[in-house]
Formats: sequence, structure tokens, C-alpha cells
Amino acid sequence: MSRLCPCTSKLAFDKCCQPYLTGKKIPETPEKLMRSRFSAYATRKVEYLIATTCAEERSKIDPDELASYCRTVSCISLKIVKTEAGGPQDDAGTVLFYASLQVNGKRMLHRELSRFNREQERWVYVDGETN
Ligand SMILES: [Zn+2]
Repeated sequence: MSRLCPCTSKLAFDKCCQPYLTGKKIPETPEKLMRSRFSAYATRKVEYLIATTCAEERSKIDPDELASYCRTVSCISLKIVKTEAGGPQDDAGTVLFYASLQVNGKRMLHRELSRFNREQERWVYVDGETN
């Protein structure tokens, strides 16, 4: 049996986020990008996280800092609560999600409304509001 996807979709990894992480496929919607970025955090694919961040923010990311952050976090589960826009005709979209994480051994629930833009035919992460 193949491994389940870290994004907790209950699908096999190779039928869900893995093709995005390996660059075989490009996420067609902000929700798929969101899921694949969660899986990238879970599997510590720092290059993928950087590549799927908008150009303006990308240059500010310190890969070593991001890598060490990934080492302190365990991604337990992801729940997509709501998505807005992000369709084939849109250049922007948002995803509201809850991520259950364990940071330095402590369980926490991360709630975020993420913004995504389309940048040269690919969806990229812009920023997020947390509360
Ligand atoms: Zn997945």
C-alpha cells in the first residue's frame, strides 16, 4: 500500500501532493497549492516552499532559517475551511485553513487566511492573516 499524503486528504501521496512537490504537475488551484505547501512543510521541501512564494517575498526568505523552522514543526493535519475565487478566470484567491501542528513538542492549532496570486500561470503564496 502506498503512503498516505501528509496533507491528510486520505489520498495516496503519489495521487495527491507528491507530483506537485516533484514538479511533475503544477497545482491548478490555490487549494491544491495550499495542500502541497502543507505537505512540503511536512516533508521539509524547503526549495518547494520558496519556489511557490510570490516573487516579492521569495527574495526575503532565508533558506537556512526556513529549514530549521521545518525541523521544529510536525505537521499533523490540515483542514481547508473555505476557499474564495482562485478559479481558472481568476488571478487571485484565498484559502482559509486550520493546521494542526506540533511546534517544539507543543500541540497548536494554526488558523490562517492565506492569499494567493497567479504569477506567470502558476499559483503562488502571497501572505496570510493569522488569528
Ligand atoms: Zn496532499
